[in-house]
Amino acid sequence: MKAMILKEFGAPLVYEEAPEPKIGPRQVLVESKANGLCATDLKIVDGSVKTAPTPLMLGHENSGVVLEVGAEVESVAPGDRVVVVSKQTCGRCRMCRLGHEEMCLNSPGRLGIEIDGGFGQLVAASERNLVKIGDNVSLAAASLIGGTLGSPLHAIRMARPELGECAVIFGVGGLGLHALQILRHLGANVIAVDVKEEKLAKARELGAFETVNAMETDPVKAVMDITNGFGADIALEIVGGAAVPPVLQQCIDLLRPGGRLVILGYSFGQKVEIDPAQLVYKWIQIVASHNHTVRDVSDAASLVNDGRVRAVITEEAPMPDANDALAALRAGDPVGRIVLTW
Ligand SMILES: [Zn+2]
Ligand SMILES: [Zn+2]
Repeated sequence: MKAMILKEFGAPLVYEEAPEPKIGPRQVLVESKANGLCATDLKIVDGSVKTAPTPLMLGHENSGVVLEVGAEVESVAPGDRVVVVSKQTCGRCRMCRLGHEEMCLNSPGRLGIEIDGGFGQLVAASERNLVKIGDNVSLAAASLIGGTLGSPLHAIRMARPELGECAVIFGVGGLGLHALQILRHLGANVIAVDVKEEKLAKARELGAFETVNAMETDPVKAVMDITNGFGADIALEIVGGAAVPPVLQQCIDLLRPGGRLVILGYSFGQKVEIDPAQLVYKWIQIVASHNHTVRDVSDAASLVNDGRVRAVITEEAPMPDANDALAALRAGDPVGRIVLTW
């Protein structure tokens, strides 16, 4: 098979022939069709994800078509169109049994991060980490159902939004634009904060109640004005990078007493200074959200299947153009996701 391989951190990926993966009795061979690109891919290429080895085929936001199934596989068959959930899980450990397989204690790793993912033409995935999708959903859109939709869905469950509540999303990139649609669907009013006008325009198109350009306006003051001095019920931090510490402080400042902050964006090793007295006096609830469960992906698939949420794709490019696509992601900070197709 052909594959786009990361051979050395910091170097361009190499397009070449690679051996086909073998599957076990509970595994499935999936023909990779589409891969969403995200900031995690850049972190892997740069060598900052310490669990990622080389050589590695990236592609953790993957969809494809089942080609072959192991002897004990029952839930999918050749020809099925599937979302491949990146984290491979055991289903038997304590965390899996708690329903938190995103924290599986026996996981061999995440496809495209610790083990080979969709940048190879064939992917070996365990049966339990596949979610079937309807024929009406394109495979490009399907590639976003795992990471791009499942992860914000996971975070939003932790935020426990209620009808009519006000949620502020900091960062309406790939995850943020999808978080916005889910929150709208659950009946929350969403204020989108970003530094790029094109992203804010997209957020308005997708139903944001208000948008704030943080380059021009202080988001804390803006949210206080919009909420008549009360503050927001929910804040989602999805900015990542150097902006995380100041944005977390802004989130705490603009929440109402008892407001909930969910942290998704990060960069490794970054320290944040927070005054615990402010947290206590304001009764701020803070939780971090990592990855997504198969249930999150399955629910995200149903939202896309019947058109309640739409996958926001900025560009589709063929897999051999992966280096250009990664450079565009790094430089351009696109509106929605770039998808690489086989
Ligand atoms: Zn991702
Ligand atoms: Zn497990």
